[in-house]
Amino acid sequence: MKILIVEDERKVGQFVERALSEQAYTVKLVGTAAAARDALADEPYDAIVLDLGLPDADGLTLLQEWRGAGFNEPVLILSARDAVADRIRGLNLGADDYLPKPFSVDELVARVRSLLRRQATGPRATVLEHGGVKLDLLSRTAEVAGRPVELTAREFALLELFLQNPRRVLTRTLIAEKIWDASYDLETNLIDVYVRRLRQKFERPDGPPFIKTIRGTGYQLA
Ligand code: CA
Repeated sequence: MKILIVEDERKVGQFVERALSEQAYTVKLVGTAAAARDALADEPYDAIVLDLGLPDADGLTLLQEWRGAGFNEPVLILSARDAVADRIRGLNLGADDYLPKPFSVDELVARVRSLLRRQATGPRATVLEHGGVKLDLLSRTAEVAGRPVELTAREFALLELFLQNPRRVLTRTLIAEKIWDASYDLETNLIDVYVRRLRQKFERPDGPPFIKTIRGTGYQLA
């Protein structure tokens, strides 16, 4: 489980980082909205702990941007502002929970656990769609423009990764980690081969591209 902590107060950030690392979560700590944007654009997280008072932007603005861009990671807001109006605004903008500062480490850990649990058991889409492509996660079937398409298990997993992250550039490293359980030592060529296969299966000759190549980085759904 990977958790992103966005907190500019060094002491608070390190406290949260330590508490969550002790629970065996993989934790990344950033101190600015800019660094948080980069982190989330680079790779998906299982949950985000977000402070509202950041040096370069308001945490609520950041949250609004993410939700607008389709990032659906569960978010726990941390804030010294305990105003009910702020709390409601945060929840309206798509935060999943709100923890006023100061907080106890036990409470923080309990809230993060509950976020992750909800994420795991909550109502998740079982049919993913993008540009005429439909992937049914329950029946394990795929179709394009209503026509069924045969996929290998690996192709299915790769297509699911793209459809779960419709606006994110998927780096080769991320694809290797998620689909081949390899963080290095994987012939990147292999990823290109699989992407080419998905293109052949889902792009119509005269239609728009389905997957874009982002040079030097990876791939993104078009
Ligand atoms: Ca702060």
